[in-house]
Amino acid sequence: MQERRETDPAVRVTDCTLRDGEQAPGVAFTVAEKVAIARLLDAAGVQRIEAGCPAMGGAEARALAATADAGLAARVVGWCRADRRDIRAAVACGLVEVHVCVPASDGHVARTFGADGGRDRARRTLLDAVAHAQDHGLAVSAGFEDASRADDGFVVDLAGELGTRGVRHLRWADTVGLLEPLGARERLGGLARQVDADWEIHAHDDFGLATANTLAAVRAGFRWVSTTVGGLGERAGNAALEEVVMALRHLLQVETGVLSPGLRILALQVAAASRRPLPAGKAVVGSAVFAHESGIHTKGVLATPGAYEPFPPEEVGGRRRLVLGKHAGRAGLRHVLRSSGIDVEEHALAPLLAAVREHHTAHKRPPRLADLRALVERVVRSQGSGDGAAPDIPARPQVA
Ligand SMILES: [Zn+2]
Repeated sequence: MQERRETDPAVRVTDCTLRDGEQAPGVAFTVAEKVAIARLLDAAGVQRIEAGCPAMGGAEARALAATADAGLAARVVGWCRADRRDIRAAVACGLVEVHVCVPASDGHVARTFGADGGRDRARRTLLDAVAHAQDHGLAVSAGFEDASRADDGFVVDLAGELGTRGVRHLRWADTVGLLEPLGARERLGGLARQVDADWEIHAHDDFGLATANTLAAVRAGFRWVSTTVGGLGERAGNAALEEVVMALRHLLQVETGVLSPGLRILALQVAAASRRPLPAGKAVVGSAVFAHESGIHTKGVLATPGAYEPFPPEEVGGRRRLVLGKHAGRAGLRHVLRSSGIDVEEHALAPLLAAVREHHTAHKRPPRLADLRALVERVVRSQGSGDGAAPDIPARPQVA
């Protein structure tokens, strides 16, 4: 086992890309893809990797066995229902840690265990599965499914009983993404005060609030976060690893032990394996999030990158790009020409800018280098044959 680089981060990460992420509709990873993603997560410093569901058997079980056997520093965890068969399947995969999940909301409890006496059956089933796992020498965490719609008193009771059995790591799942950050801060703070445990927030993104709710939980005292790379997951997905890690660092000054330069590669790898291209504007890791086109922004970034960037692109393995397009200004144009080795007289910049804007609009994409050379040639030629008085382009007002 490798040495952990970060021994005591304030918040730790359970990444669920290989389990919850893969449950995204239409996504299926091969064994090789799962092991490769697990290696990248491990290299990035993620502390726990929830690698799949042992009870599925077949390729899923082979992937779990291969991941468990890959010599990772991260703990490899199998997701189990509160069911002895799931525990035995995890043991057969060679896992040494399981996450045991039980429905917590009355709606889910009734569907799984019946409306009458369902809570008690849920409790007994959970404790039986936990004991079974412990008898097999497994480390155990427990999770409350649909906790955001559950009675907090029921969750507190279960958490207390689990504590007496040595289960300290507890996941509070906002399964359908119904939390909002201000309410979460208050509610989860109360929970953390009532039950001394290693609480983990597991947030879904149905209202686009998964990362915000994850941060709220950390402010409430939760010390573990569930994530998936790129937010891949059921429906609208989960809290994205890259968003959570970077937002915790830059907005709350909290470190997770995750090494951020690997985040973009990880996102690209998961995007490829899931056949879901990374959106250009995806927070933190999208190809456009450090691209600048508009005149005011480009000029600002050229002088002071931090003027229009929350952190340097290199911090997440990205790079800064200037896009020469419809909203470009002279500073950006001058910079692109210079860095492309194209020499243009200052008085030709205004008509060239006009030509660039027209090209972008007409072709629905910014000019490429060959296009730019052609535009330069056309503008210079027209200036040479005309009266030389190029029309001035009024500065475009840009919304900052
Ligand atoms: Zn989930």
